[in-house]
Amino acid sequence: MNGGARVRDFVVVTIFPDMFPGPLGYGVVGRGIERGLLALDVRNLRDWAEAPHRQVDDATFGGGAGMVLKPEPLFRAVEAIKAEAPEVGTRVILLDPGGRAFTQKVAEELAGIERLVFICGRYEGVDSRVREKLVDEEISIGDYVLPGGEIPAMAIVETMARLIPGVVGEPESVERESFEDNLLDHPHYTRPAKYRDMDVPGVLLSGHHAEIEAWRRREALARTERHRPDLLAKKSPAPSKTGGLEAKEQ
Ligand code: SAM
Repeated sequence: MNGGARVRDFVVVTIFPDMFPGPLGYGVVGRGIERGLLALDVRNLRDWAEAPHRQVDDATFGGGAGMVLKPEPLFRAVEAIKAEAPEVGTRVILLDPGGRAFTQKVAEELAGIERLVFICGRYEGVDSRVREKLVDEEISIGDYVLPGGEIPAMAIVETMARLIPGVVGEPESVERESFEDNLLDHPHYTRPAKYRDMDVPGVLLSGHHAEIEAWRRREALARTERHRPDLLAKKSPAPSKTGGLEAKEQ
């Protein structure tokens, strides 16, 4: 994370504001909001739609099934939201299955921007002029199609919130997690040391820190090789110090 600005404000534009805070009200993120470490500001797109019907969607030009979110309420909403805090660094993000893939690295990059505004699409998505002229970038949470951008926005806010200092109690647990250094996390165990016929690996009970570290590294590499060889392909081989498969950043 960069040493300057840090993300703090998350603004969500949606036609279903009652879906929030939902999961964002629980656990470390919920407590972070209560303690003022981050702010979640949910806006109803209909507030920027014209009375009396407050219509936010319309049929797609050219024919075909499905409705499209109209441009006018979205332009008005985002322009008003930006005007509320012109001095604050803001990025406007459209949730879209065709956007840049959201990863831990993208989260770390976005963590340097103070205010993130998320536009949640619905139906067939948003009028493309929104994508062309209003948003700074489009982000996808994976190669599948959800009915709306609200759950993608929640997933991104939950991920980003954990990067805000103080939100997660022990900073170490955020620093050493899956995708750091292109590795998945190593296995974790807790008490009891023996459950049914399953024993916790003896090295973890040895109190020998160097051996524990080496075991964790080997397990992380093996697990990454098994589940996500594509991550290892981003690394180049390095001489082994621990007797296991070793790799270093390219
Ligand atoms: N017609 C669009 C397409 O084929 O790409 C799908 C629209 S989807 C049914 C409605 C909205 O859900 C999208 O506008 C977007 O905001 C959100 N959405 C769905 N899947 C998503 C994903 N994987 N990542 C981010 N947002 C997604």
